[in-house]
This record gives sequence, C-alpha cells and structure tokens, in this order.
Amino acid sequence: MDTLKQRLARITHLNQAAAVLEWDQETYMPEGGAEARSQQVATLRSMAHELLIDDETARLLEAAQPDSASDSDLVRIVSRDVQKARKVPSSLIAEMAEASGRAKGAWQKARSGNDFPVFAPHLERIFDLCIQHAEALGYEDQPYDALLDQYEEGATTKQVAAVFDDVKKDLVPFVEAIGQAKPLCEGPVHREYPEADQWTFGMEMAERIGYDLKHGRQDRSAHPFSTSFSISDVRITTRLEKRFFNPAFFGTLHEAGHAMYEQGIDPSLEGTPLADGTSLGMHESQSRMWENLVGRSRAFWEFAFPTAQSTFPGALSDVSLDQFYQAINAVMPSTIRVEADEVTYNLHIMLRFELEQEMIAGRVAVKDLPAAWNDRMESWLGVRPENDAEGVLQDIHWSLGAIGYFPTYALGNLMSVQLFDAARKDLPDLDEQIRGGQFSNLLGWLRTHVHQWGRRRTANEILGASTGEGLAAGPWMDYVREKFGAIYGL
Ligand code: ZN
Repeated sequence: MDTLKQRLARITHLNQAAAVLEWDQETYMPEGGAEARSQQVATLRSMAHELLIDDETARLLEAAQPDSASDSDLVRIVSRDVQKARKVPSSLIAEMAEASGRAKGAWQKARSGNDFPVFAPHLERIFDLCIQHAEALGYEDQPYDALLDQYEEGATTKQVAAVFDDVKKDLVPFVEAIGQAKPLCEGPVHREYPEADQWTFGMEMAERIGYDLKHGRQDRSAHPFSTSFSISDVRITTRLEKRFFNPAFFGTLHEAGHAMYEQGIDPSLEGTPLADGTSLGMHESQSRMWENLVGRSRAFWEFAFPTAQSTFPGALSDVSLDQFYQAINAVMPSTIRVEADEVTYNLHIMLRFELEQEMIAGRVAVKDLPAAWNDRMESWLGVRPENDAEGVLQDIHWSLGAIGYFPTYALGNLMSVQLFDAARKDLPDLDEQIRGGQFSNLLGWLRTHVHQWGRRRTANEILGASTGEGLAAGPWMDYVREKFGAIYGL
C-alpha cells in the first residue's frame, strides 16, 4: 500500500502542477506565453497518464493489501481508472488532441463570423473520434453511455433520458405560463455597481457561507472557474461587469460552492486520485445549491440585503427587498445558455443532450444541426436564434471533444434540490438559519454526506445514502413550481 500510495502521489502532484500552470494561464500569464504554456501542460499531463497506465502501477494495485475501508476503495477505484485508461490507444488520444486544437480555432472563427460551414468539417471529425473513443472504452447499451460515463460515472443514457423527459413534460408548459404572466422588473440589477465594491461584497458573502480563504483565494478571469491544487489550496475566479450585479455575485457563490466541495474532502485522501469531486453532476449540485437554493432565496436576502444596500447605496437605496428579490429571479427565455435563468436553464441542456445522442447515433447529420437546434429551441423556449453564433455555435464544449459533458449541468440542478430537501429534513429550521446568516450547519451536513467522501462514493451512492432515493425529476420540478409560482402569481 505504501509503495502504491507513493506512486499515486507522484501522479497526483504532476496533475496538480499542471493545474497551477492552467490557472496562471487564465489569470496572470501574458498572451504571448500561450504556445509554450500549452506544451508545458501537455508534458505534465502525459507524464501523469504514462505513470498511471504503466505496468508497475498495475502490479502494485494487484499486490496491494489494503487494511482499511478507505484503502480498499482506493485500490478498487484506481484499478478501474487504470483499466479504462488502458483501453484507449495513445494514438487516439493524440488524434483527439490535434483535432480539438484545430476545431477550437475553427469554432472561434465560425462564431465570430457567424459561419457554421467553417466549423462543420471539424465537428464531423470530433464526433467521429468520439465514436471511436466510445468503442474503445466499451459500453453495455449504446456508445453515448461510454461518453457520459467519463463525466458522470455510473450514469446511463437511458436513466438520464428518462429523468430529463420527466422534467421536460412539465417544464415546457410552465415556462409558457410564465411567459404569459406579467414580466418582472430586472432594472435594479442593471444599475451602476462599482467593481471594487462588487469584489468586496462577493468575497464577504463567500467567506460567510464557508469558503475558507486560508486555503483559497479569488482572482479575475474571462471565464470563471474553480480549481484545486490540493485539498488545502482551492481557488476560484470571477469576472466583473460594472452595470450588472449578477455575473460577479452569483458567479462567486457558484464557484465558492465548487471550491467548498473540494475543501471538504477527507484530508487523508490527499495525494491520491480520490481527492476529487465524485462526478461533474455532483460538483455542479454543490455550486448550484449555494448559487440558487441559498443565494437566490428570499431568506438569504433578508440577511444580506441590508449589507448590499450599504455597500451599493447608489444602486439600491431606493430599491425594496421585494423588488431586488424579483430582479434576481426574473425568468426570461433566451437563446443563450450561459445567460439562462434558473427555470429555463435545464431546457438548454436537454436540447444539447438530445442532439448529441442523435449525432452519435447518426440520426442527425452535421449539416442539419443548425436547423435542428433552432427548431427545438423555438418549440421548447419560444425563442429562435437569429443566427448560428447565437445558436449552435455558442458553446466551446464540442470543439474540445467534450461530448457527454452537457447533461451533468442539469443533473447538478436536479441533485442540488434532492440534497437540499434531505438537509432540510435533518435541519428543520434551515430557512431560519439562512435568514440569520448562519450557514455552518448546512455546510456541515454537506461535509458529512457529500464532501468528505471525495470519489469514494459515486453520485448515485451519495444520493441513495442521503436522500433514500435515486436521481429524480420530481423534487426539482416541485421546487421550481413553488418558488416561481409564488413570484409570478401562477
Ligand atoms: Zn459549475
């Protein structure tokens, strides 16, 4: 076990060092450093990969004699990682890296010029390589299962599709009903919010909910993210807009939610591949919980609004708590996923999930993708993209070869409510606590049931153990109906 752990620590350190370089690239590195930096990162990542699939690692895993439950989990889960990694030929990994490098450039050009045909041949190549990747990994039912499993271990296409269909059949008419209700005024969030004050207020609230700044920090980047260099150094980034309150504040709560998950992992897992979130869906459940279920609740703003008013007197002195609460919760179907509100967001994801499957199954050709996208968007959300830049070209994910990634965003939303409901059962006065600015019991509950486990338990196991049920659509749909039904008087 000791020799195995030493080897796993070397692999982990290489990946963590690569993460530092990637973080620097997005925050402080001058533009001209990009070419050299991508080579440095590739070197570290491939060294880590080679060590993982090396025969010596397999031998140590085979010979290991775990004498604790945690060590047994380590051997079992890393053995599975190794088996999966060994199934994919390195030639295919290299082809994918090259294809996605080109596809990313083509995607940027296609999006800025609103010219889908520039991207189309690259996208065909990406989907083709992803099908090869799925075949190499193997699957029980359909190739998409193998792609999904990379991001959401143990989830199957059938399971996810069934849950998404449940959401969709109730959500589409609900969004339509909101569209016919009196619109809410978003004015208060689109006023002048000085950047320095946004920063201070966001950090104050992030720390208040439990983000540990002795083991974390925030910097600026074009696209906000969180990243972990170890359990004791987990960082976030944000972006600021002078005349829009939401991106920085809710972005900070979101990324702090991700970071608190990583900060809460059992320290004894440090230096092993288990010191990580168990799946992207579970990770997103943590960020969405703090961003939406806490951060966009009326209870939270009963606590935070007086501080917000004194921090932003110019923007908020003539705004009431109710007006502010409505402004941060306005529902407005739009064509752009990253601007979507809490209610419509999942429909953006389900659209991508369905199209990915149809592409992988060969039922939709790349050339027909823009029309398929626009038709579905119009029938579900009642809005039609004016051009492909606002439609099929809006996201970077496909150019990177990340097929099977999108559904994890919606899975996170669904899981966040299931877990929040379970936490509330154990903490019956949770709303009172939030109203009083007390978040430590909720965080403690998440530490016990979710965070500490790292990758030792799968998302399904965590859900089962803490909620007594598997992934389900009902709790999220009930939450949305209750909250937004009240706000919109439906
Ligand atoms: Zn996230």
